[in-house]
Amino acid sequence: MNRRVRVEGDLYHGQIPDGAVYVGRPAPGLRAGPFANRHRFGKVCRCGATHRDRAEAVAAYAAELTPELVARAREELAGFDLACWCPLDGPCHGDLLVLLAAGDDLDTAFTRLGWS
Ligand SMILES: [Zn+2]
Ligand SMILES: [Zn+2]
Repeated sequence: MNRRVRVEGDLYHGQIPDGAVYVGRPAPGLRAGPFANRHRFGKVCRCGATHRDRAEAVAAYAAELTPELVARAREELAGFDLACWCPLDGPCHGDLLVLLAAGDDLDTAFTRLGWS
């Protein structure tokens, strides 16, 4: 099973671990792909809501996932580790993408992650 890994370095000098695909937001030197989570927590989000913590920002991401994006995750992310900035023990949309890329549907992935 592929896993989520953490970007190394600081926000201005992020390094993607070898062989991983970056799924975070745009950062200096790091291009965001279609899988980035636009929702951020702790301040007013660009969606207009205020997400209190990482888990709420991830839930907002999950709520917006389309079947097209899930299909794309299966095609483009299967077999890769996914890199994001989130602590490895915290919820991250990358945790969800790893499972979706491996073939889980949303419900199965949520159950597996203990988020449901
Ligand atoms: Zn938001
Ligand atoms: Zn993350």
